[in-house]
Amino acid sequence: MTELADILRARIAATGPMTVAEYMAECLLHPLHGYYTTRPPFGAEGDFTTAPEISQMFGELLGLCLAQHWLDTGAPARFTLAELGPGRGTLMADVLRATRGVPGFHAAMEVVLVEASPRLRALQAQALAPYASRWTDDAGLLPEQPLFLLANEFFDALPIRQYQRDAAGWCERLVGLHDGALAFGLSAPQARPDLTAAFPDDPPGTVVETCPQAAAQMDQVARRLRQHGGLALIIDYGGWRSKGDTLQALKDHAFTDPLAEPGHADLTAHVDFAALAARAEGLACRYTTQGRLLTALGIDARSARLAERLTGAALENHLAATRRLTAGAEMGELFKALAVYAEGAPVPPGFA
Ligand code: SAH
Repeated sequence: MTELADILRARIAATGPMTVAEYMAECLLHPLHGYYTTRPPFGAEGDFTTAPEISQMFGELLGLCLAQHWLDTGAPARFTLAELGPGRGTLMADVLRATRGVPGFHAAMEVVLVEASPRLRALQAQALAPYASRWTDDAGLLPEQPLFLLANEFFDALPIRQYQRDAAGWCERLVGLHDGALAFGLSAPQARPDLTAAFPDDPPGTVVETCPQAAAQMDQVARRLRQHGGLALIIDYGGWRSKGDTLQALKDHAFTDPLAEPGHADLTAHVDFAALAARAEGLACRYTTQGRLLTALGIDARSARLAERLTGAALENHLAATRRLTAGAEMGELFKALAVYAEGAPVPPGFA
C-alpha cells in the first residue's frame, strides 16, 4: 500500500515545498493515511494519553465548572454544550454523567461535537450513545445561542506555520526534499510587518510560530460568547507566548522525528495562549495551570471520595492518576487552562 510519505514526496517533487501547516494537516487528517483518520491514538494502547483518559475526575470537575457558570449566569433555557476535538468521547461522557444532577441543565442543553475525523466521530457516538448529540467539523457551525464549551488538547493539534527571522525579514520553514527524503528548508526572506509587530524582540535566528486555524476557531467561539454569553474552557500544553520551534511528534509514548513517519506519529505544537486570548476582545479571560485549576475545583476531596471504594492496585492507580493530573512535575504545570466568558459575568469556579 502507498504510504503517506510517498504521496507527499511525489507532491513536493511536482509542485515544490509545502508549509509546515500543510504538512501537519496531511499527517493528521489525510482521508486515507492521516493519524486521526486511521487509528485510535489515545490511551495505553495508543501513542499518548490525555487527561480525560487518565481519570474520570477531569471531566467531572470541568463539567461542574461549566454547570455552575450556567447557573451563575441565570441558567439560560437553551444553550450549546460543545466540545472541540472530543477524541474518544470520554471527556464529554464524564461531563454529562457529572451534570445529571444539576436541575434543568440537561433539559436546556444541545450537545454539539466539533470533530474532523469520521473514525473518531464513530467512537464518540458510542461513548455518548445515551444522549442526543450531533457533529460538525467547524466551530463556525455551532448554534447561535449561549455556548458552554470545552477543548482539551484540541488547539495543539491544529496546523502551525513556522518562520525564522533573518537580517532581511522572515523566512518560512518549509518541508521539501533532500536527496529524495523529506527535509526542512527555508523560503527566501519576506517582509512580514505582522510578524515583526507580533514578535518585536526576537533576534535573528529565532523561530516563531503562528496557528491560523486556532485564531479562526477562536474567533467563532468568541463571537458567540460576546453575543449570547457562556463560557469556554480551553486546556492544553503550552504557555503565554510560544517561543522557538515547538513542533513535536509522538509515537508509542516516545518522541520521534516529525518528518520520519508521516501519518504514523501524532504531531502537535505548543499552544500560544496569548494568541488565543488576543481573539477574545471584549470578553473576560482568566489563565491558570491545570494543577491549580483542578485543585481549586476540589480534586483532592473528589479523589479521597473515590479512593474510599478502592483497594490494592486500583487504589494505587487512582492515586497515581490524581498526581499525574495535578503535580508540577507531571501535567500540572505544563498544561494550562484558559477561561473565556462575558465581561461582567461572575468569575468561573476555579479561576478566582
Ligand atoms: N480532547 C480529546 C482528544 C484530543 S486529540 C482528549 O482529551 O482525549 C485531538 C482531537 O481533535 C481529535 O479528536 C482529533 O480528531 C480532533 N481534531 C484535530 N484536528 C481537528 C480539526 N482541524 N477540526 C476538528 N477536529 C480536529
